[in-house]
Amino acid sequence: MAKLVFADKKSRRDDSAANRQGWKVLIVDDDAEVHSITELALRSLTFLGRPIEFIHAYSGIEAQAVLAQNPDVSLILLDVVMETDDAGLRFVEHVRGEVGNTKVRIVLRTGQPGQAPEQDVILRYDINDYKAKTELTQQKLYTTVITALRGYQDLIALESGRQGLRKIIDASASLMQSRSMRMFASGVLTQLSGLLGTTGCGILCTQAEPCESTDLTIIAASGKFEPLLSAPPDTVDPEVINRIRLVLARRETLIAENYTILYLRTPNFRDVAIYVEADRPLEDLDRSLLEVFGTNISVGFDNLEMIDRIVQNNEVLERRVIERTRDLHDREARLLTIMEASPIAVAILKLEDDQPIFANSRFFDLLGLTAGQTGDITLGGLFADPADRSRVGAALAGEDGVIGDLEVSLNRAQGGHFWGLLSARRLEVSGHDCALIWLYDISQRKEMERELRQFATTDHLTSVANRRHFLETAALEFERSRRYGHPLTVIMADIDFFKKINDTYGHQVGDRVIRDFADTLQSCLRGCDLVGRLGGEEFAVILPETPAAESLSVAERIRAAIEALEVSLPYGGSLRFTASFGCAARGEGDGSIDATLARADAALYRSKDCGRNSVTAAD
Ligand code: GH3
Ligand code: MG
Ligand code: MG
Repeated sequence: MAKLVFADKKSRRDDSAANRQGWKVLIVDDDAEVHSITELALRSLTFLGRPIEFIHAYSGIEAQAVLAQNPDVSLILLDVVMETDDAGLRFVEHVRGEVGNTKVRIVLRTGQPGQAPEQDVILRYDINDYKAKTELTQQKLYTTVITALRGYQDLIALESGRQGLRKIIDASASLMQSRSMRMFASGVLTQLSGLLGTTGCGILCTQAEPCESTDLTIIAASGKFEPLLSAPPDTVDPEVINRIRLVLARRETLIAENYTILYLRTPNFRDVAIYVEADRPLEDLDRSLLEVFGTNISVGFDNLEMIDRIVQNNEVLERRVIERTRDLHDREARLLTIMEASPIAVAILKLEDDQPIFANSRFFDLLGLTAGQTGDITLGGLFADPADRSRVGAALAGEDGVIGDLEVSLNRAQGGHFWGLLSARRLEVSGHDCALIWLYDISQRKEMERELRQFATTDHLTSVANRRHFLETAALEFERSRRYGHPLTVIMADIDFFKKINDTYGHQVGDRVIRDFADTLQSCLRGCDLVGRLGGEEFAVILPETPAAESLSVAERIRAAIEALEVSLPYGGSLRFTASFGCAARGEGDGSIDATLARADAALYRSKDCGRNSVTAAD
C-alpha cells in the first residue's frame, strides 16, 4: 500500500489529549482514610496526557456493583481484608472469573504485613502488585499506578488491534461475497466507517489511467454524500472532490484532522480513493488497520471488475440467445406460412415410420382429405403404382436423396387416381430422416395430352388411324415382323365409282358412305389389326401375325360385307356400293412397309382393272 500522509500531525496529538477521559482507578477499601490518602497522593498524576478519575467502593460486595457500572476501569487498588479476611481475594475471583475482565490491572494492598497472597494467586489472577498499606507514599503509589496503567494501556491496544483485525477479516470475507462493484464499494465504505468508528459519511471513487481529473468515477457514497451518486461530482461538494483528486494525483493516503482519504492501487493498476469523514483523529493503531484493510480489499476491486465484465458479457450473450431464438421462431413461422400458402402441395414425412410431420392444406385437398387427416398421409399409400413407390424410395435412399419431376398416378382418398408431378428430397428434421414432397396436380394437362394425341393420330371423319399414324405403326409392325420372322400382311381397299356417288347424292352422302365403309372394315377385323384412312375413299389395313392366305379371306369377308351393306339416304330410299381390294404379305424382297403397301396397291389396281368388287393377291 502507498504510504500514509498526515495533514497535521502535531495538532492531532494535542487535541487528542484534551479530549480524552481520565483513567478510571477504583479504590476498594473498608478504611475511608485510605481512600482520601490515595486520592490525595495521585491527584496531580497524568499518564499519556490523561488524568486519574477516582471511583470508590468500601467492601468487596460494593466493589462488584461499582465495577458493573464502570466496566472500563483501568486499575483496582484493592484491600485484601475487608468485611471478611478474604473479601479482597473473593472480589479478584469475581473480576477475573465471573466477569471475565482480564484487562483491568489489580494491585493488592493490606494493612497486615505477612498476609501476602500465595504465589499461585498472583499468577492465576494476574495480580500486578502487592503492597503494604504503609507504602502509600506518593512516590511509591505513583510508580505502582503508572506501571499498572501502562500495562493496561498495552492490553487495550492489543485488544483493539485484535478486534480491528477481526473486523477486517470479517469485513473482507463478507465484502468478497459481493457480486457487484457497487455493492462491494458501498460495503467497503460501511466497513471502513465501522473500523474507524467514524460518522459513516464517505465517498469511494475510482479513476482510470491515465490520470485525468475528468476520469473520476464515484462508485459509492454514503451519509451526506449520497446525492453524489446521482449528480456530477463537481456540483455537490467541490472541496471534498478536490481533496480526492489530490490524493489520486499524489497516490498517497491522506490522514487529516477530521477525514481520511485512503489511497489504493489494485494489482491491475486501478486507482481507488476512499474518503471517510472522522469525528475523531486517527491513532497509530487506526493507521495500521487502515493499511491492512486497504491491502485486503484492493484485490477485491479487480475481482469484481472481472465479475462485472463476466456478468455483462453473460447478459449480452443471453440477450443474443433470446434474439436468436425469437428470430428462429419467426423464421420457422414464416417458413410455415410460405409452405402453407404455396400453390404446390407440400408434405414432410418421416422415413422411419412413414408418418407425416407436416402437410399444407393443398396437400390435403389434392388427396381428397380433410385438413387434419394427417394420419392418412403415407408415402406407401400415395402411389397407384407400387413401382413408383419403389422408385421414389430408392431415390431418397440414394446418395443425392433427390428425385424431380416424376409423373406419377396417385391415389385419391375417395378412390380413383389422378396424375401428379412429384419431386422429393431427403431432409433431416429434428434428428429424423424425412422426405420433403412437392406434388402438383397434372390431371388436366394429362387429359389434354391424351386428346392431342388422339387428334394427331385419328382421322376425324371415320375415327380410324390417320395416314401418318397408320404408316408409322405399319412401319413398326413391319420391323417387328421382320426381326422375329413372323408373317405380316396388308390389305389396300378403295370404294368403286365413288365419284359417281358424290355426284349423284352429294358430298354428305359421300361422307356417310366413307364412314360406313370404315365401320364395316373395322367390324371385320381383330383388335390387333389396324385400319388407316390413307386419303379420300382409300383405306389400308395391317394384319400382324397373319399369313397371305388368311388375309385374302379376311379381304373377301370385308368385300362381301360391303356388297351387302345398305346405306339409307336422308330423303328416303337407300344405296349400295362395292369396293376393290389388294392383299400383299411381307415379302423377303420388301425393304420397308412401303414396298409391301405398293405391291398391295398394285394388286388393288388389278382388281379395279378386272371389273372391281373383287380381291386380288399380290404376286
Ligand atoms: P374408281 O372406281 O376407279 O376408284 O373411281 P372413283 O370415282 O371411286 O375414284 P376417283 O379417284 O376418280 O374419285 C374419288 C373421289 O372421291 C374424288 C373426290 O372428290 C372424292 N372424295 C375424296 N375425299 C372425299 C371425302 O372426304 N368426302 C367425299 N364426299 N368425297 C371425297
Ligand atoms: Mg374409288
Ligand atoms: Mg380412289
